[in-house]
Amino acid sequence: MSQNATNNDTPLTATRARMQAALRAAGRDADAAQLIAISKTKPVEAIAPLLAAGHRRFGENRVQEAAEKWPALKQAHDDIELHLVGPLQTNKAKEAVALFDVIQSLDREKLARKLAALKDAAGHGADFPRLFIQVNSGEEPQKSGIEPAQLAAFYGLCTDELGLDIDGLMCLPPQDEAAGPHFALLKKLADELGVSGLSMGMSGDFETALGLGATHIRIGTALFGPRE
Ligand SMILES: *Cc1c(COP(=O)(O)O)cnc(C)c1O
Repeated sequence: MSQNATNNDTPLTATRARMQAALRAAGRDADAAQLIAISKTKPVEAIAPLLAAGHRRFGENRVQEAAEKWPALKQAHDDIELHLVGPLQTNKAKEAVALFDVIQSLDREKLARKLAALKDAAGHGADFPRLFIQVNSGEEPQKSGIEPAQLAAFYGLCTDELGLDIDGLMCLPPQDEAAGPHFALLKKLADELGVSGLSMGMSGDFETALGLGATHIRIGTALFGPRE
């Protein structure tokens, strides 16, 4: 319990306080990173208190679930920023482009080509989600994402050939390894490409991620409690 803990502490205020402390400890500005509340599997009733407290950045990992929960909430709060952090099938890409403000899971060429076609069809100047490339930092065969050795070529395909803007990189480190080396690798890869967004860090390791340069942390359990 921190010295400042009061009866008004909520998971949101407690998480924000830990986030600010980690940024301060790293010598970073208080606004150098964004908190994305990952509300997957959680009902609208669990999301409402965060909205009431003024929180606006949320993430989901399934298009179908997001399509059931978020259109009404977005209608009620026009400044919500919704992130997709789970795998995107190309046949759901059009729906995802309409629903999400940020797609963090761009992880293969077929999806990049589909997103580029949707962007072209939307036309110049139309709203289009910001994009993060998901990197398979642990080179795990079962996990999606671009392998580090392929990243530069994939980034070139997205930007030069397909005309997509890439805001950053995202990773989900292997569960049975220390996350720090994966976060450091993602930071190095982002610096090499010259992209500024770094989505890394979850409930169990976000302070480590903030110390290594995370600009977006994706927090579920610490805000909403355990999932079923
Ligand atoms: C579920 C999920 C999170 C949040 O994980 P917690 O450990 O509950 O904070 C973050 N990122 C992705 C991609 C997820 O699927």
